[in-house]
Amino acid sequence: MYYVPDDTERCGYYECSSCGSRFLDVRIGPQLVCPYCGEEPDMEIGPDDEMPKIVENAKLIRMIEGEDVEKYDQLLSLAVTGGDYSWI
Ligand SMILES: [Zn+2]
Repeated sequence: MYYVPDDTERCGYYECSSCGSRFLDVRIGPQLVCPYCGEEPDMEIGPDDEMPKIVENAKLIRMIEGEDVEKYDQLLSLAVTGGDYSWI
């Protein structure tokens, strides 16, 4: 498994509206911070600086459950390495 741990029974299938990345995540919510282009909080920021804005660009497309988790994980993993995922 590439995106989620083995034996994951349910996960979310997300697409980033900013960079177009598609991925699975065990965290399920309407939107997440994109792991590819999302900004992680800058830990070196001073206490007087403005908090960095976290942009949740990745939107939940659908829930994936059961056997589909492994299927989607494999197919999306192939997509990352250059496969064609336009069928999804
Ligand atoms: Zn992104």
